[in-house]
Formats: sequence, structure tokens, C-alpha cells
Amino acid sequence: MNNRKEYLKDVTRIVVKVGTSTLTHSTGLLNYKHIENLIRQLADIHNQGIQVVLVTSGAIGAGMGKLGHTIRPETIPEKQAAAAVGQGILIHMYEKFFSEYGKTTAQILLTKEDFEDKTRYLNAHNTFLMLLSQGVIPVVNENDAVIVDEIMVGDNDTLSAMVTNLIGADLLIILSDIEGLYDANPKTNPNAKMIYNVSEITNEIKKSAEGAGTDLGTGGMATKIKAAEIVVASNASMIIAEGSVLNVITDILEGIEIGTLFQRTNLL
Ligand code: GLU
Repeated sequence: MNNRKEYLKDVTRIVVKVGTSTLTHSTGLLNYKHIENLIRQLADIHNQGIQVVLVTSGAIGAGMGKLGHTIRPETIPEKQAAAAVGQGILIHMYEKFFSEYGKTTAQILLTKEDFEDKTRYLNAHNTFLMLLSQGVIPVVNENDAVIVDEIMVGDNDTLSAMVTNLIGADLLIILSDIEGLYDANPKTNPNAKMIYNVSEITNEIKKSAEGAGTDLGTGGMATKIKAAEIVVASNASMIIAEGSVLNVITDILEGIEIGTLFQRTNLL
């Protein structure tokens, strides 16, 4: 079996997806310790010459806090209003933290249609590539404030995989509140073992993901496996790892065996 370093040595463009479970405390308020850890690492790998795209969740959550909702609103207009308020809060926060490291960010909000319509796909592709070539770190989310079911990607695990494909990135790192993929649900089965490398997404692997996963956020492990299928099909690799771990991203890129690696089919 090839070792990790071989899969990660020539990475030049990466997408990192961060979920609500990493960005917020159980109170729903922002977890600055995690956010600072994340941004410092992204700025550091950007300094190494790696192009970085961040896919972030948390708009609805952040908007709920600001608007004084204690429970998730039920009506679509209320949710979309919360997303519109929250997206502004998120982007303000990223802009502020990244600028402390001298980095420029850009906001890109996408819908499923942007991937399905050829002209829009090419436009989005060109915008990303222009930003990356100018040293900008694009910050992406679904356009929750205006989206309707028919044109919704629905979860940011899938969205981040589609973005990886759109920009031809080498690697997608999905940060979650779980260390990686286990062969059984670690919350209910004490014998569950972490799977460090997946060379093929078999039915057995899909079965391992059932029922496992995170308490917060939209996606569980199943959406992450679906994301891995999209990523591997475009000959990129994907890693699921725990977002709260100090230096998790920089350690991954040094080839340290952290999280679950879904291996690209052909090495670079
Ligand atoms: N786009 C949603 C938000 O920002 C999150 C979707 C997800 O967590 O997968 O609230």
C-alpha cells in the first residue's frame, strides 16, 4: 500500500470544509479557539504556496443567535432570514481573522444550478481560478437566503466535494467532530476501529458509515462518503478529520496519519 506522504506530497490546491460542530459551541455561539486554530493553519499553508478554498457552514446558526432565536426556526422565510443575517456575520468574522495574517478573502455563494448549467459552471470555475491566482482565499457556502428545494445541494459535505471537482483541487479535507471513519458506530460499539485508508469505496465502507456521525450540523457520515465518491471520481483525495485538534490541517499535509484518507485512483 502507498503511504500517506505519496498522496499528499504534491498538493497545490486544497478545499477545506468546516462544519457547524467545529465552528460553534453546544450553546450555538462561535468557538473562537477552533476558528483561530483553523484560520492560522489555512494562512500558514497558503504561505507555503498552496491555494486554499474554505467551505463553511454556520450561517443559519449564527443568524439565529443574532436574531434571538433559541430554537431553529421552522418556516422557510425565517430560516432564510437567519441565513442572510448569519452569512454576513460569518464573512465578517473570516475577513477579520484572515486579515490579521495579511490574507484577502472573497465570498462565493453557490446553488446546485451553478454546477448544472454549463455557462454558470464555467463562469464559477473562472471566478475561482482568477481569485486563486490573485492570492485570495475564497470562502464558500450555499446561497441559503434565496435557495429553494429544487436547486439546493442541501449539505456542505456534498457542496465541498462539488467545489473540489469544479476547481480541480488535489485534496478535500472535511473537518468534523469525529476523528474519522470507523468500521462501526464508535458511540455504541466499544470495539469500533478507525479506518485510516480507503483505497476503494466498497459497500462495506458505506455500511460502516450508517448511523455513525456527528450530532450537530446537517451531514452525518453518509454525506461524507457521498462526498468522497464525488472527489475520488474526479481523481482527487479526501480526508475526514477532527476539526478541534490543534494543527490538524498542517499535520495532515506533512503526511502524518490523522483521520481517514480516501485515496485518489491515480497518484500525481
Ligand atoms: N449552508 C448551511 C449553513 O450555513 C449549512 C449546511 C451544512 O451544514 O451542511 O447554515
